[in-house]
Amino acid sequence: MHYEGNIIRPPSEANSILLQATVGCSRNKCTFCGTYREERFRIKPEAIIMADIEFAARYCRQQRRVFLCDGDALIIPQKRLLIILQAIREQLPWVTRVGVYANAKSLALKTLEELKTLKALGLGIAYMGLESGDDVTLKKINKGAASQDMIAMGQKAKSAGIKLSITVLLGIAGRERSLRHAEQTGRVLSAIDPEYVGALSLMLIPGTPLFDDYQAGDFPLLKPEEMLAELRTMIACTNLSRGLFHANHASNYLPIRARLPKDKETTLKLIDLALSGEIALKPEYLRAL
Ligand code: SF4
Repeated sequence: MHYEGNIIRPPSEANSILLQATVGCSRNKCTFCGTYREERFRIKPEAIIMADIEFAARYCRQQRRVFLCDGDALIIPQKRLLIILQAIREQLPWVTRVGVYANAKSLALKTLEELKTLKALGLGIAYMGLESGDDVTLKKINKGAASQDMIAMGQKAKSAGIKLSITVLLGIAGRERSLRHAEQTGRVLSAIDPEYVGALSLMLIPGTPLFDDYQAGDFPLLKPEEMLAELRTMIACTNLSRGLFHANHASNYLPIRARLPKDKETTLKLIDLALSGEIALKPEYLRAL
C-alpha cells in the first residue's frame, strides 16, 4: 500500500484496510490540530488508489472494513469517489463497510441524493469532528462551521442512511466558556442524534496556534476535575434516541462507555464518584492522543 505523511484513523477502524485516498486535510485550519499542519492537501492519483485496492484484493482478505484516509476524504468529488467505491465493491466483495472522515464542508458539497448513492455503494459510516456545539468556541478554534451547519449536515448524513460517529473535545473552550460549551455540545448532539459520540480530552500540540495561545497565557488548560465536570454536564444535556457515548479514548481521565439514554443516570453517578475522589483518575503520564 502507498502511504504518505501521517496516517490517522478512528480507534474503531484499527482492523480496517486503510486506503489512503487523500493526503492531509482540505481545511487544515483548526487551531488545536497539528495532524496535517505541514501537509499540502491533495487527492491521490486514481492509478495509485486502484493499485492499492488491487493489493488489498490479494493480501487483505480477512479484513471486512475499509477506512478511506486522510483528513476528510469525503471532499473527493462525487464522480471520483464513486469510482473508488465501485472498485472496492468489485474487487473486495467481502468488505461490509467503508468509513470516512467528514466535516460540515465536505457534507455540504454532496447532495442528499449523492450521499444516498455513496451509502448504496458501501459508505456506511462517517466520522465527524464537532468538537463543540458552542458557536463562540467553534469560531475561536476556526472550525469553519457554525453549530447550525453541523446540525444540518449531520442530519443530512443520517437521512442518507450513513451512520455518524461524532467527536467532541473536552477542555477546548477554556475555563470561562466550559459550562456553555458542555451545554451547547449536548444540544447539538441531541439535535443530530448520532449512533456514536466520542469525547476526547484536549491535549495541546506544539506548533499549533492553540499551543501558542497557551504559552502566551491566553488559553487555560483545564484541570482533570474540570474536564470531568464538563463531561458530566455534556452527558446530562445529551439526549440520544439510541447511541453510544464513549469517553474511553487514551486522552481521557476516566473511561466511560454509556448506552444512552439507558445508562445516563449510572454514568452521571460514576462521574460524581470520580469527582468526589472515590474513583481514581488516570495519571497524566498514561494519557496519549
Ligand atoms: S481537526 Fe479535522 S478538519 Fe480540523 S484541521 Fe484537523 S483534520 Fe482538518
